[in-house]
Amino acid sequence: KAKEVGKNHIEFFDESMKKDFSERMLINSGLREAIDENQFRMVYQPKINIENNTVSGIEALIRWTHPIHGEITPDKFIPLAEESGFIFQIDEWAIVESCRYNKNMQDRGAPKVPVSVNMSAKHFNHQRIVNMVKTALDKSGLAPEYLTIEITETVFLKNETDVFGMIAELKDLGVKLSIDDFGIGYSSLTHLVDLPINEVKLDKNFIRNITVDSKKSTIVQVILELSNNLGLDVVAEGVETKGELEYLKGINCKEIQGFYFSKPLSKEEIFEFLTDKEGLKHWSEGGTNE
Ligand code: C2E
Ligand code: MG
Ligand code: MG
Ligand code: MG
Repeated sequence: KAKEVGKNHIEFFDESMKKDFSERMLINSGLREAIDENQFRMVYQPKINIENNTVSGIEALIRWTHPIHGEITPDKFIPLAEESGFIFQIDEWAIVESCRYNKNMQDRGAPKVPVSVNMSAKHFNHQRIVNMVKTALDKSGLAPEYLTIEITETVFLKNETDVFGMIAELKDLGVKLSIDDFGIGYSSLTHLVDLPINEVKLDKNFIRNITVDSKKSTIVQVILELSNNLGLDVVAEGVETKGELEYLKGINCKEIQGFYFSKPLSKEEIFEFLTDKEGLKHWSEGGTNE
């Protein structure tokens, strides 16, 4: 019997490995063409200041429509692009596109807000990232204060002096810096103190169940208090319910991002969102799509 279980287990394992392998192959070979064939697009999710109900920024998130296989989510292809090195071209494309579109909306009269762009830490190369940011600002004509670079804490697993150097150079360019997914993995509160960053984004795992999970709530309150003392903005990610929103307001969290206010929006929708005279209210009542 044990042998039978073992055998089944191996077969199951083989099948899933095969599937996994072909999926990886498909994604990797597809990435090669994706940029040239215009298969990527950016969507934009608003970040809301809940003290005064204004849009404090937008986050650019990449989307990939494969000609045969349809939508492939970033959680699937970004890690593979990081392994293969395609991530450089992807992030380069994403930052130029996002800066250009933010400038374009400003030129059409939208309220000016910073656009946040995610930057992969894999194959981390200090000079290359700084050059990428410079080029994006030059090409788009966007003022640096309207660009925020989001990095995750995994960058700190790399050579620390290099990371500090990069962050200093980015600050010199005048862009803002944000630590994404804070609180999971490699968090160190000293990074908040040591680095000239502007913003901390609390990972959505901390927000899920925050209204009933007192441990999560305690951690979030500690981060909020430290960040407030240091003059850092704190954004709660993944806010989906009114309960979560009210709870976060109650513990003095000033900014949120999440499906409660809006899903990531297409280019046309985000422009409408930013210029909407009726304010944020009706967007939180659903009806928005990517
Ligand atoms: P992230 O930067 O932490 O982005 C937040 C993710 O949470 C997005 O997923 C967003 O759609 C999702 N989200 C927002 N509000 C809610 C909510 O209320 N509930 C839930 N369950 N999810 C919410 P998305 O767009 O699938 O992106 C996943 C990750 O892929 C991003 O996490 C980021 O790490 C990476 N990524 C996305 N675009 C880029 C890019 O252009 N370059 C790089 N290097 N990474 C990217
Ligand atoms: Mg992000
Ligand atoms: Mg995040
Ligand atoms: Mg993330």
